[in-house]
Amino acid sequence: MDWAFIHRRCESAVDFLAEAKKIETEVIRTRRTLHQHPELSYHEEWTSQFVADRLEALGVQVKRGVGGNGVVGILKGSVEGRVVALRADMDALPVAEAADVDFKSKVDGVMHACGHDTHMAMLLGAAEILARAKGGLHGKVKFLFQPAEEHGGRGGALPMIEDGAMLDPKVDYVFGLHIDGDRRVGEFGVREGPVMAAPDSFRIRIIGRGGHGSAPHKTVDPVYIAANVILGLQGISSRMMDPVRPFVITVGSVHSGTKENVIPDYAELQGTIRTLDEATRKAAKRKVAKVVEGICRSYGGSAEVEFEKDAYPVTVNDPEATEQAVKLLRKLRGARVRRMEPILGGEDFSRFLQKAPGMFYFLGAANPAKGCVYPNHSSRFKVDEDALKYGVASLALLAFEFCKNGTGRT
Ligand SMILES: [Zn+2]
Ligand SMILES: [Zn+2]
Repeated sequence: MDWAFIHRRCESAVDFLAEAKKIETEVIRTRRTLHQHPELSYHEEWTSQFVADRLEALGVQVKRGVGGNGVVGILKGSVEGRVVALRADMDALPVAEAADVDFKSKVDGVMHACGHDTHMAMLLGAAEILARAKGGLHGKVKFLFQPAEEHGGRGGALPMIEDGAMLDPKVDYVFGLHIDGDRRVGEFGVREGPVMAAPDSFRIRIIGRGGHGSAPHKTVDPVYIAANVILGLQGISSRMMDPVRPFVITVGSVHSGTKENVIPDYAELQGTIRTLDEATRKAAKRKVAKVVEGICRSYGGSAEVEFEKDAYPVTVNDPEATEQAVKLLRKLRGARVRRMEPILGGEDFSRFLQKAPGMFYFLGAANPAKGCVYPNHSSRFKVDEDALKYGVASLALLAFEFCKNGTGRT
């Protein structure tokens, strides 16, 4: 039996975009059902049951309750090959939906405003196509449905990894797709190396000594110190960090005081820094602490600076896997593939990429003609569902080909 011949034939027999088009209506229906039932981070019980039941109905072996509400599906191919994982996140946001759609969220104040409903629908669609193409599938495909991506900190990927999601069988390559409200419908955004930032939140407590507003010389005014700290922090990015390495610092919350004529004892600032490499990240955290302490001391106060533990790492795409994936994505007729600049948002898909090489990529869903012009996280975020078939086809294609050939060199 000439297996190589048979596999070649099987490969050429699958036109993934044509397969995706066949199930397009069903994928859209699934997406709308999920859209109407959004659940917040760590509360994805209904959602995880929904995706687990769907996977089981496709004949995929399913593990529920992986690292909380996580679901892992395993589809075994007919012959030996690699193990490729595809990931979709499941959680929604505390946003009251204002989008003009007739399948609005049925949960007050909660909305799939980041499009994770589309991720799940596309991955279930890819699972259906791969389950049908099982005869020609090498190795194994793992479907990772992840909770709590929006939460930050421990998020949902880390608990799944700690619960063995990337082992048994060990994952060789991992891919994740994000729908993008800032990109034209049907356009893939790809990039090798760092693609999303490490989002490090911080809290600064400035300790002064309160008193009467008419006699500041008898106090240590934490409000005045806080104002200087906010300005001083911006000096880190403009004067102290290498300007060719991205670094952003934002103070998003300032709290102090109760009345106009009382100088309070404390002030509290909260903010975030964003970096694209570990060295810059470490240096930036050190400098924030140093600048804050220096300014506070110079005015007679003191400070406590705390960075969130377990913040998401930088999302780094493997260059070889990305190069190979781009070649494959270009085969999808009708879709466009564009190299993108990094985004300084954070993603805990980064944690899967620390365990296996792979790629996190974007799929545009913006279309002014249909009113799909609002960015992810907006209460008016609206997806042009014509994009979904490309996402479905891309996930199935990447899994199928990487299971068989890896990067083509390994
Ligand atoms: Zn989001
Ligand atoms: Zn998201």
